[in-house]
Amino acid sequence: MKRVYLDNASTTPLLSEVVDMMTEVIRNHHGNPSSIHFFGRDARSLVEDARKTVASILRCSIGEIFFTSSATEANNTILKNAVMYNGITRIISSPTEHHCVLHTLEHLAEHHLVEVIYLEVDRKGNPNLDQLESLLSNDKNHTLVSLMYVNNEIGTMLDLQRAADICNSYSVPIHCDAVQAVGKLPIDLSKLNLSYLTASAHKFHGPKGIGFFYMNMDHIIPPYIHGGAQERNMRAGTENTYGISGLAVALNHLNQNHQENFDQVNDLRSYFKQQLVDHFADIRFNGNQEENYLPHILSVSFPPSDKVEMLMFNLDINGIAASSGSACSSGIESDSHVLQAIRHEPDRAAIRFSFSPWTTREDIDYVVEKLNGLTPSK
Ligand code: PLP
Repeated sequence: MKRVYLDNASTTPLLSEVVDMMTEVIRNHHGNPSSIHFFGRDARSLVEDARKTVASILRCSIGEIFFTSSATEANNTILKNAVMYNGITRIISSPTEHHCVLHTLEHLAEHHLVEVIYLEVDRKGNPNLDQLESLLSNDKNHTLVSLMYVNNEIGTMLDLQRAADICNSYSVPIHCDAVQAVGKLPIDLSKLNLSYLTASAHKFHGPKGIGFFYMNMDHIIPPYIHGGAQERNMRAGTENTYGISGLAVALNHLNQNHQENFDQVNDLRSYFKQQLVDHFADIRFNGNQEENYLPHILSVSFPPSDKVEMLMFNLDINGIAASSGSACSSGIESDSHVLQAIRHEPDRAAIRFSFSPWTTREDIDYVVEKLNGLTPSK
């Protein structure tokens, strides 16, 4: 059976260059980077080469990049320790953040009495940056702002430069969950002036179980995980050398073909949208469509019909992997927190299709063919 993978926002397949690099490290570079002998020094140089690659792509200094097990760990590290050690008592965020941010914020509100303010979002998922400005102008003390760059469910992209400029003008630290953006959009930290940024390798064709955060030296927080002196005392635990090397190879590869990849995915997305609109009735798209969107993510809203609940199931049995925008709790499907925040109509079905530079028009044609009969045609 043909299989089509359109769930790249969930995770991405490894690039063959990444597999080669990781295999080489696993086979031939088994040292512990903390050991002082040859094997240790050899592993250490791999880790530091990878850090250099990441720092040069993101235009920051190598001392500002710290490897972690995931973006989830990186986000927890920053948010929790900014509260625990840097005197943050108020966090301004948005209701469409990933659960690893939202649940951390809920924890901080409940157990550390942090005041959490969620910005209003419009029906495309754009947080209200005027509101951010007015909140900071009223009170900027002990405040941290945490906003994602690209929403993982609907692809809406934040005006990150403007958000950072607002925070900088009030000298308020800003954390950005850039998991869906790193490897897909150019990020120049020397211009953006963020305090913290987080990423996860498996979202950009690198391995699972490895991520990193950027921490600006004006906003240092202490370590979250205690133990050895790894990552310059910022993140204890023996480094995942093959993961770190794989991460750097993936980022480097994507960065080299950056504009080409973006344009290709954007063309594919337009093609898919056109096919859907041409063939099926009452198709809508969630999130920004004209500007400020990441083309890799397309959230399609299908009209109510007797088959709508079976859409995901039917795509799956036809070999098509996509993601439902519904969360199933105790057997009852309800729209995800993101779809609720953008007031998606609950009787419609939202499906997230997410692409990579390796997705083809044939893949799209196959999906359109299989959607016949599953959603009302024109
Ligand atoms: N933030 C965003 C926007 C995401 O999409 C994800 C994963 O889906 C994460 C954070 C968490 O990434 P990880 O599970 O790799 O820690």
